[in-house]
Formats: sequence, C-alpha cells, structure tokens
Amino acid sequence: MKILVINAGSSSMKYQLIDMDDESTLAKGNCERIGIDGHFKHTTYDGRSTEYDVEMTNHTEAFIQIKNALIDEKVGVIKELSEVSAIGHRVVQGGSIFKESKIVDEKVIEDIESLIPLAPLHNAAHVQGIRACLDVFGKDVPEVVVFDTAFHSTMPQTAYMYAVPYEYYDKYAVRRYGFHGTSHRYVSARCAELLGKDIKDLKIITCHLGNGSSITAIDGGKVVDTSMGLTPLDGIMMGTRTGCLDPSVVTFIAEKEGLSPSEMDTLLNKKSGFLGISGISSDDRDVSAAAEAGNERAKLAIDMLEYQILKYIGSYVAVLGGVDAIVFTAGIGENQYSHRETVCHKLGYIGVEIDDEVNKKAIRGVEGKISTENSKVDVFVIPTNEEIVIARDTAALVNA
Ligand code: AMP
Repeated sequence: MKILVINAGSSSMKYQLIDMDDESTLAKGNCERIGIDGHFKHTTYDGRSTEYDVEMTNHTEAFIQIKNALIDEKVGVIKELSEVSAIGHRVVQGGSIFKESKIVDEKVIEDIESLIPLAPLHNAAHVQGIRACLDVFGKDVPEVVVFDTAFHSTMPQTAYMYAVPYEYYDKYAVRRYGFHGTSHRYVSARCAELLGKDIKDLKIITCHLGNGSSITAIDGGKVVDTSMGLTPLDGIMMGTRTGCLDPSVVTFIAEKEGLSPSEMDTLLNKKSGFLGISGISSDDRDVSAAAEAGNERAKLAIDMLEYQILKYIGSYVAVLGGVDAIVFTAGIGENQYSHRETVCHKLGYIGVEIDDEVNKKAIRGVEGKISTENSKVDVFVIPTNEEIVIARDTAALVNA
C-alpha cells in the first residue's frame, strides 16, 4: 500500500510517497512559491532528482506537478497513479472538534473551514490542499486528515483554560490547544518502544525544539499539558516568536509605538524570539556561532532559550508528579547538543545524568539514549517523523 502524505501551506506544498510495506519513503519533494511564481523540487529514494521553475497559480496546479513527477519516466517511482492507495493530509488546527484523525468528506472539510478563524493561514491552506487533491486524484482515492492538535485533546480543562472571562471560551473557543501533536505522539511512542515498556506506565516530557518549539507533559500516553496555546506563539521562545510573556507587554508596546493588532501580530510572530533578541538570525546555528565568537546578545538569546527549556521541564515534572523519560527532538533538539548538555546538567537534582560524549555524538539523525546507566531519568534524542504517523493513521482508517 502506497500513501501520499501532504503538508499544504499557503504558498508551499510538501509531499512524501511512503510504501507501507516497509514504511520507506519512495519520493519526496516540495512545491514552493505557489501563487507567486513557482518552484518544484522532487527526489527519489535512490537519488534521482529534478528541480525547476514552473508556474503554479494554485494548489491544483501544484498537485499536477507532483502527479507528473511520481509517474515520470526518469524520476518517477510508480507506473500509474492508481498505485497511490490513499492520501494523508497534515492539518494544524483541529480545535475541539477533532480529537483524532478522520477520513475526509464534505462535512469534515466544512468543519476544518469553520476552524479557519483559529488558524487563518494554516487551515485555509489545508482546505485548498484537500480540495486540489480531490480535483487531481478524484473521489475514489480516500483522503485522511491528521491534526497537530489532536494528541493534545486529552488535556484537562484546568490546563487548557485561560483566566479571561469565561464567555470568550463559549463565544470564540479561546483556550489552549497545543501544536506539534503528531511529533510529540511519535517520539513519546518511540521512547516507550526503546525502553521496552508500555506507554501507559510512563511519565514522559517531550521537547520538540525547532524553528517552532513546544514542550509536552505526557502521563500514561495522554497529554496533560503542553506549552503552545491558542496559537503556536505561546511557550518557549522560538526562531522569530516570543513564546510566553506578560500580556501587558503587548498592549504597552502597541500603545507606545502606535501599532495595530495585525502589526503587533507580526512583531510577536516574525520579529521576536532568537531574531529579536540576538539581532542576528532566527537560526540557532547562526546565533550559537555568534555567541561562541563573543556576541553578547547572541549569548543572551542562547541563555534565555536554555533557561526556558529548563523551566518548562521543571514545571512539567511537578505537573506529572515525577518523570521517567525526557525526549529531545526536531532541528534544535536533535542537533544542538550543547543546549541538551546545559539543561540536563541542571536537572541533576531530579537524578538526570547524561553521558556528555554520547550526547555530543547524538546529532544528524542519530537516535538513542544519552543518559547514563546511573541516571534516574532516561534521556533520549529521537528524530521526529510526523509523516510516518500521518501515513500510519491514513492506512489504518482506510483499511478499517
Ligand atoms: P526545524 O524547525 O525542526 O527544522 O529546526 C530548525 C532549527 O534547528 C534551526 O534553528 C536550526 O538552527 C536548528 N538546527 C541545528 N542544527 C541543525 C541541522 N543539522 N539541521 C537542521 N536544523 C538544525
């Protein structure tokens, strides 16, 4: 069974064709700059590739590029399109409606559309992607939607409510939803597998640290709290996002600078975080290099990030009443070993002990345990794989 996994953004569409027999990726690529001018990239499992500029005015035209590449004589990986058994879409915001993955029908599309106010850029693009897929592949190829928020739907109300007047929860569904759920789900399940234990018996803290970052407390396989909120702005500081702050900072700066809500939104989402503090870059590699070269603001950005990771882990240990395992994943979590080292050394008081040499080597896709045999808490680096979760959910729903 071959599953096409789609991650549609407003101007891009990433894809992977996965063979479920061995869960291998046959081909992957990206349609970039949709609606602007258009650039297409495609690579195969055996190193064949193509890349070219091509006008893609909408998502349907992007799908046509994907379809053509998959069956192309030179860079194709299947003979005909009918070999694609089903399509799985990543959807960012499932709100309180979607607690699990679903087969797409008109009602599901309408429900995803109804959540557009909660995730204007993302959900609108996902709907375009789903409809374009229907145009190109037809109604006979089942489509499944997998939500970033679904894994967090087990959070108790005490954790997901904000202390604003209750009417805004009723009227606008203002609450914490959490994001990166598919990643937290994958790495927590994999952590249990690596430990050889049932996830029901484990308390796990998963740290998804990338350009966007979130930390999640998982008790017995169920999320009890997560750092992102109504939107992916909350939690720890990120590439260009603030993370949590006193809400008065927003009204104070807006008043002083005469900024509108949408200008403030840009400031908080696009000009803050690593970029805002360091003034150098949103990319951890650039900021870490500048910090090492002696740049004070870059050093401050790094120190702030490590401090905030430590603070979240500490608070989630309290929420969980202890912790069996901590997992680091995503670009920063999988590669920037110095942050793991600083944070883990400071967690000695709960019995965390890592092997610094093993930790240094756990980069670039390496999966494994970085804690010592004496450590009371197991610490892992686990490369995330959201696509495989989407493909597995798609296969399971379609086969059922
Ligand atoms: P992500 O959003 O998961 O792609 O992560 C992007 C972040 O990971 C950026 O801040 C990068 O600086 C950081 N990073 C560090 N090392 C690497 C690496 N080898 N590959 C990709 N991202 C990296």
